[in-house]
Amino acid sequence: MPDETSTSPDGTAVPDGLRLGGVTVAYDGSPALRDASLHLPRGEVLAVLGPSGSGKSTLLRAVAGLEPLDDGTVTFDAADLAGVPVHRRGFALMFQDGQLFPHLSVARNVGYPLRLRRTPRPDTAARVAGLLELVGLTGYADRLPATLSGGERQRVALARALACDPRLLLLDEPLSALDRHLRERLAGDLRRILVAAGTTALLVTHDVDEALAVADRIAVVRDGRVVQSGPAAAVLAAPVDAPTARLLGYGVVLDGDAADRVLRAAGRPASPTPVGVALRRTACRLVPAGTPDALAGVVVATRLTAAGARCTVAVADVGELDAAPADGVPEPPAAGDAVAVRVDPAGLAVLAG
Ligand code: ADP
Ligand code: MG
Repeated sequence: MPDETSTSPDGTAVPDGLRLGGVTVAYDGSPALRDASLHLPRGEVLAVLGPSGSGKSTLLRAVAGLEPLDDGTVTFDAADLAGVPVHRRGFALMFQDGQLFPHLSVARNVGYPLRLRRTPRPDTAARVAGLLELVGLTGYADRLPATLSGGERQRVALARALACDPRLLLLDEPLSALDRHLRERLAGDLRRILVAAGTTALLVTHDVDEALAVADRIAVVRDGRVVQSGPAAAVLAAPVDAPTARLLGYGVVLDGDAADRVLRAAGRPASPTPVGVALRRTACRLVPAGTPDALAGVVVATRLTAAGARCTVAVADVGELDAAPADGVPEPPAAGDAVAVRVDPAGLAVLAG
């Protein structure tokens, strides 16, 4: 059994945040979440990452108290939350579409939870001003939601969610409705805001970049099961299996002889047991034909991307690899050119199973 408390640097026990132990949630008898166990220490951000339909929202709703558990426990600071209704958990929720009140100004939206609690008016005004500053919307107090961009609306929703100092913030795909450029920027802002506020947060998302930008820890869910969890960098560096590697943004997963050839080309010892190898999109570099320790191949196609030219290269006994020309390779290589592919060992993960 894991400890119910953690120890702070001065040796005192500190309450340990959110724990799920063997949580199962079924809809009409069919489980959407099975035997899920997780730990989110106070003050950290955990991203639950999984494809659509994998059970992420179900997990979040179970934590919020919106779905009854068929099995298992949800505890916060070691107190079991069974029977504790949604509004008594001290959690706040934020969704993809912010759900602002359209007829209320930004300031009144943010202050809404404080007014519900009958917070004295001057305190509310000061708190709202502080929250708007935190989310970078000073000067927006009197605007109506309809006059804001999508990203600004999500900042307002975040400020409102933080208004009552929730002991846990639950975020369901908070950036998914935004376009990619805005999503990337706001993901970084979201992390800074959560860290500045010292908020313990659980974020669910299907987007690996969002998960990595925001979270300290990642839990990967698939088909209702938590298949891997741990510190974000550790999960990213060592995905447990091929579907997890793909979800984490690896472009190619190889097995058998192809995996062995790539491992050798990267200077890693071939494994005695059957392994898979996952390659990050940045792992392969196109180099001149005949380069030692590179895989010989033939260019199948070349295309331009925002990050420069990329080539699809057919490598015998491996398959097609996607490679960016290394510095010094004259551009653009044409289909049919004989080339070689160098594999960066840092861009590769060995899969155990
Ligand atoms: P995600 O958020 O990862 O996309 P969900 O948790 O929403 O996944 O859904 C997980 C599974 O549970 C899906 O198969 C979905 O169809 C099903 N499901 C979700 N909510 C309900 C519900 N209220 N009634 C019946 N099935 C549901
Ligand atoms: Mg969902």
